[in-house]
Amino acid sequence: MSNIIPHNFQLGKDDRNHHKGHQSFVIWFTGLSGSGKSTIANALEYKLYQEGVHTYILDGDNVRKGLNNNLSFSPEDRTENIRRIGEVAHLMVDAGLVVLSAFVSPYRQDRENIRTIVGAQNFIEVFVNTPMEECERRDVKGLYAKARAGEIKDFTGINAPYELPLHPDIEIDTTHTTVEESVSLILNKIAHKIHSKHE
Ligand code: ADP
Repeated sequence: MSNIIPHNFQLGKDDRNHHKGHQSFVIWFTGLSGSGKSTIANALEYKLYQEGVHTYILDGDNVRKGLNNNLSFSPEDRTENIRRIGEVAHLMVDAGLVVLSAFVSPYRQDRENIRTIVGAQNFIEVFVNTPMEECERRDVKGLYAKARAGEIKDFTGINAPYELPLHPDIEIDTTHTTVEESVSLILNKIAHKIHSKHE
């Protein structure tokens, strides 16, 4: 590490933000499986796209299958999973993108570490706080049934812990809030951020 001397590149985040016409930051969705993270992220990304904002969604499908395909769901590997995702999100923010990440990310400390990596001003925590009974009722991927049957160990909410965010920027219970309303809530929260000069 000590022999890695950073090169002084001519362009930085500010230049890329200027080029793209908006600021870049991370919208970090956390919550139980089936709570609605990907659904809301997807609808929000579409809305941002229509407004000309450059975005990218990080989720289990594109990260667990490639970059993190050597990681399990053990506590250590979950932490490493989130650490790598945080570093990727950080690079994408540097590249000028609004990054939407949709991971259960059950450990508070792991989420706080991302806040530190990307900078508190670049991190919006969205807690999708849908009650576990509703997530299990939806059972979008059939995972709750498998976990109940003992076919999955380390399943968050059943036999692995979820640590609630203490001060999320936004909290959404999707049993009371529609996808469209959730998108509006988040858009209202980030509107000033997207086009602010420097924060
Ligand atoms: P997660 O990404 O948190 O695992 P998903 O977005 O994959 O969750 O699944 C959430 C499921 O709940 C989807 O099938 C979605 O259609 C459904 N759903 C029902 N009502 C809502 C709502 N108000 N907001 C978000 N998702 C909802």
